Amino acid sequence: ETRTKSLLYLEDVSVSFDGFKAINSLSLVIEPGELRAIIGPNGAGKTTMMDIITGKTRPDTGKVIFEDEIDLTKKDEADIAQLGIGRKFQKPTVFESHTVWDNLELALNRSRGVFATLFYTLSAEDKSRIEEILSTIRMTHRAHEYAANLSHGQKQWLEIGMLLAQEPKLLLVDEPVAGMTDAETAETAILLREIAKTRSVVVVEHDMGFIRDLGVKVTCLAEGSVLAEGSIDFVSSDPKVIENYLGR
Ligand code: ADP
Repeated sequence: ETRTKSLLYLEDVSVSFDGFKAINSLSLVIEPGELRAIIGPNGAGKTTMMDIITGKTRPDTGKVIFEDEIDLTKKDEADIAQLGIGRKFQKPTVFESHTVWDNLELALNRSRGVFATLFYTLSAEDKSRIEEILSTIRMTHRAHEYAANLSHGQKQWLEIGMLLAQEPKLLLVDEPVAGMTDAETAETAILLREIAKTRSVVVVEHDMGFIRDLGVKVTCLAEGSVLAEGSIDFVSSDPKVIENYLGR
């Protein structure tokens, strides 16, 4: 069997909790440089899928293969993060009493296994890396603001910036626009498209306006498997998707 080079594929993955199949024979391929949106009703298995990719949950059966050869089901969470898979949970977890710059500096240090320290003198290279991330997340003008003073949307972008400090090859983002203003939601679509120019991004979201705005391939999960996959127009006109998700 030949296969085009994929960044990540899940093949026939299943996992049960107390006999209940949360993930049921799920197969999915993420290409290098792809931005993919995942939708689906509550309980569809979206979080469990992310948990499986990041090694938080081990599947009962099936394959989870990174870069065509690395079997993630044999790795623990720390190893998987080290391989270049970053995850952003729904709630922002920035250090409120530090500035935006210091949050990014801490994240850069942490990516090298140095924790909770700002006492190193930054190299010129590190400084320009932080400046580059600030520019990507459009927060250059907020660099010296305390994170506590940021809007909810800005905190989410800062946390995405902190993940970028780790140079992930794949970034998993859980409901980034929940609680954002319309303007912040539109900015987030631009930001994720920008980030996906240099890496793959998988984003789980319920906000259909945002998904439409992203304009990327969509996978709709239900009952732990893929219900439909394709453009948002294709997926949102699928009778199964309407019945199980959109029409509810
Ligand atoms: P989604 O993120 O799409 O809302 P989840 O992945 O959170 O869906 O959940 C899928 C199903 O698996 C749900 O029915 C949920 O109750 C169940 N589930 C998830 N994690 C656990 C767990 N650790 N123990 C028991 N059941 C779980």
